Amino acid sequence: MTNLKNRVALVTGSGRGIGRAIVIALAKAGARVALTARTAGELEEAVGVIRAAGGTAVGIVADLMAKDAVPALMRDVNDQLGPIEILVNNAGIGSSSDPKPVANFNDEFWETTLYLNLTVPYKLSKAVLPTMLAKKWGRIINVASINGKIPSLHGVAYTASKHGLLGLTRTLALEVAKEGVTVNAICPGPVHTAMNDKRIEYDAQRRGMSFAEIEQAMTPIGGRLEPDDIAPMAVFLAADEARMITGQAYNICGGVLLY
Ligand code: NAP
Repeated sequence: MTNLKNRVALVTGSGRGIGRAIVIALAKAGARVALTARTAGELEEAVGVIRAAGGTAVGIVADLMAKDAVPALMRDVNDQLGPIEILVNNAGIGSSSDPKPVANFNDEFWETTLYLNLTVPYKLSKAVLPTMLAKKWGRIINVASINGKIPSLHGVAYTASKHGLLGLTRTLALEVAKEGVTVNAICPGPVHTAMNDKRIEYDAQRRGMSFAEIEQAMTPIGGRLEPDDIAPMAVFLAADEARMITGQAYNICGGVLLY
């Protein structure tokens, strides 16, 4: 059994979807968890689920696009729970918020996507490192995507940001390998969340197919994954048992990528 008893974890984008499943699973394994996102109601709901099960959770409303969001978030988590030992960089913006071919791509959307999906994980990683290195124990888990390895049509910013996130994962993993800190990525395939619903709607319209037809054909196993299919890998990577695993990028994708 994985035991994360009293470890302090921060999961970004944990009000819904994959982040919510991960934070609930970390809390079940014993971690004291901080949740963050912009939507207060979703945070309150997820915090309530964890507390009802006897866990310790705090919700911090923050827009990670805001200039001083990272230091403010660090301060809040530190004040309420103590130094972060497990950081899960999960908050992200999807390819389907404004899908376009490169020739017509919106520059502002490029900047937003690169900032939230790549620069924020870089800044948060940098911010948690001093205490992790001092303790000689830390876990950084980046929620990338299979689009960190293969393209997403009309989603150049998303694809580039997730490829970049794997570059961050591998470089940082190497730098801190001797310090008790591991850095890994999870690469989900299509997961049943609000973000992926939008992508299916776009593809259904573009390809003249129904939502259900697209959804069923998304993975060799069939259909989409659920957020709970992703969470156990994050819990495992956070555990002591995973101490020799670093710099990896694990596909959890129903067989979309077979390497
Ligand atoms: P989701 O349901 O849209 O959830 C995204 C989370 O990020 C929400 O809690 C959202 O909360 C938060 N977020 C978005 N913008 C934010 C901002 N500016 N500041 C703070 N928080 C923000 O998406 P998901 O599908 O669970 O995706 C989670 C991660 O998995 C993303 O990194 C995504 O790229 C990755 N992923 C998803 C899939 C998939 O098929 N779903 C596949 C591969 C990878 P607020 O809107 O309340 O801020």
